[in-house]
Amino acid sequence: MISVAIVGSGPYALSLAAHLNALDVDYRIFGPVMEAWDKHMPPGMFLKSDGFASDLYAPGDGYRLEEYCRENDIPYAPVGPPVKRTTFVDYGKEFQRRFVPGLEETMIVRVSQIPGGYELETAEGDVVQAKQVVLAVGISHFPYLPRVMEGLSREAVSHTFHHGPFDAFRGKHVLVIGAGASAVNAAVALNEAGAHTELMARAAKISFHDRSPDYRPLMDRITNPRSVIGLGWRSKIAVELPLLFHKMPRKLRHKVVAKHLGPAPGWFSRDGFVGHVKPYMSCHLEEVAEAGSKVRVRYRDGDDMAQEMLVDHVMGGTGFKPYLKALRFIDPALASKIKTAEETPVLDSSFMTSVDGLYMTGLASANNFGPMCRFACGAKFTARRLSRRLARNT
Ligand SMILES: Cc1cc2nc3c(=O)[nH]c(=O)nc-3n(C[C@H](O)[C@H](O)[C@H](O)COP(=O)(O)OP(=O)(O)OC[C@H]3O[C@@H](n4cnc5c(N)ncnc54)[C@H](O)[C@@H]3O)c2cc1C
Repeated sequence: MISVAIVGSGPYALSLAAHLNALDVDYRIFGPVMEAWDKHMPPGMFLKSDGFASDLYAPGDGYRLEEYCRENDIPYAPVGPPVKRTTFVDYGKEFQRRFVPGLEETMIVRVSQIPGGYELETAEGDVVQAKQVVLAVGISHFPYLPRVMEGLSREAVSHTFHHGPFDAFRGKHVLVIGAGASAVNAAVALNEAGAHTELMARAAKISFHDRSPDYRPLMDRITNPRSVIGLGWRSKIAVELPLLFHKMPRKLRHKVVAKHLGPAPGWFSRDGFVGHVKPYMSCHLEEVAEAGSKVRVRYRDGDDMAQEMLVDHVMGGTGFKPYLKALRFIDPALASKIKTAEETPVLDSSFMTSVDGLYMTGLASANNFGPMCRFACGAKFTARRLSRRLARNT
C-alpha cells in the first residue's frame, strides 16, 4: 500500500506532487496531463488571469510561467498582455516532465474504502491501494446545465466543456447560454469556426473585465491592491488569509464564493464578440426541446414577452458546480460518508473530507478556503499545506 494516491493531472495535482517529492513521500499520480486545458477549452482562448497569477508551483524557486516563457522566447509580462491557452498547456506539460515524471496518464474509474485506506481502479483495470487519496479532479466532473437544458441528446444540447475545437459546428446555428467567460469564449470561438452564433443570458449586459492600466498611482495601489485573483482589498484578504476564510460561518463562505468575482469575460474577448455574436440579454429560458433535427427554445425576453426560436444546437456556458454526487467514480458506500454542505464537500483546515485520509482540492475546496481555489493560483497554498499534512500521516 502506497502512502498517497493523487487523482488528477492539472495545476493542483502537479503542484502537490512537486511538493511531495521534496518531502520524500511515496505517491502515485493519475490522469491525462493538463487535459481540461488541453482538450476542453476553445483553441484560440486566452487566460483571464494575468501572467504572474498563472503559475504552477514547486518548492523553493519553483518553475514559474515567466521562466518557461523566457526559455522558449515567448513574450511574457506579469500583468497586461494575456497568456495564450496553448502557452499555459505547454508550460504545464513541461512542469510535469521536470517535476512529476512518474505521472500515469490514465483515468481512475473507482475509488473505494478498504481497511486502512483506499482502493483505486484505473481505466485499464489495474488496482492500486493507498493509505491516503487526494481528489484533485478540478472542473472536469462539474459542468453545470440549468434544469431546463437537462435530459436532451448531446446532439441537441451540450456544455462548453464538452468541446475543444468547434469545427463540427461550421454552418450550424448555435445558441450559447450564459454571460460569463466560458459562454463568451465559446461564442467567439464558434463564430470564428463558421457557426451562426447567438448568445442568450439572464443578465442585462455582458460585463467584460477592464484591462489593467500599465501604471497605477500610489493611492490607487493602496486603496485597490493587486492580488493573484484581481484588484481590491476583498480579493487581497481572500488570498492572504484562506485559513481565516475557513473559520467564517458556512453561509457567509458560500455566499462570498458565489458572488465575489463573477464569471466576467476578459477584456480581450470583447473584439471577437461585439458585432459578431448577436446577444439576447435579460432573457429567461422557459423550455428547450428537440423538434426533429432542430432545437426549439422558448424564452421570455426583456419585456416579458413569450418568444421562440429554432436552432441547430444549444450550448450551455453555464459554469461549474462542485456537487459531490457528480464524482461518480467514488464508490457509493464511500460517497455516502462524505459530509457535504449545499451538496459540496465539507473539508477540515487541511483539505480533508469527513472521511479520514480522503482529501479534495481545487474547485471542490472553494467553499471551504475561498474564491482563490477556483483559479490555478490557489494551488500554491493548497500544495504547501496539503503536502505537509500528507507527509505527517505517512
Ligand atoms: C473557460 C475557462 C477559463 C478559465 N480561465 C482561467 C484562468 O484564466 N485562470 C485560472 O487560474 N483559472 C481559469 N479557469 C479555471 C481553471 O479551470 C482552474 O483554475 C484550474 O484548471 C484548476 O486546476 P485543477 O488542477 O484543480 O483542475 P483541472 O485543470 O480541471 O485538472 C484536473 C485534471 O484531473 C483529471 N481528472 C479528472 N478526473 C480524473 C479521474 N477520475 N482520474 C484521473 N484524472 C482525472 C482531468 O483530466 C484534468 O487533467 C478557467 C476555467 C474555464 C472553464
